[in-house]
Amino acid sequence: MKKIEINKIKIKKLKKGDEVQVLSGKDKGKKGKIEAILTKERKVVVTNINQYKRHLKRRSQNQPSEIITLTKPLPIGVVALVCPKCHLPTRVGFKKDKSGMNRFCKKCEAQIWI
Ligand SMILES: [Zn+2]
Repeated sequence: MKKIEINKIKIKKLKKGDEVQVLSGKDKGKKGKIEAILTKERKVVVTNINQYKRHLKRRSQNQPSEIITLTKPLPIGVVALVCPKCHLPTRVGFKKDKSGMNRFCKKCEAQIWI
């Protein structure tokens, strides 16, 4: 039961539209915005990150074959939120106030709004 709670919080640390930096893999160090969060798979889709080219075979004589670019989801653990204030990849903390739970940057203590 407790495990589920932790997972929930971890997902909430990142929101659609957040700027994140990739911590490992072929796009290590690159930054991008979160396009989608796949809560079930614990993955995120980040703009221009983890892209793969795929060759589509032509289906008919008239249709040319084409190369499309696919953006594959990344495991949530390999991205870190980029703080809008100090512009560093950071860990997200939570603070509770009158308006509810708010996210904040653990480096500069700035509140992170979406
Ligand atoms: Zn910060």
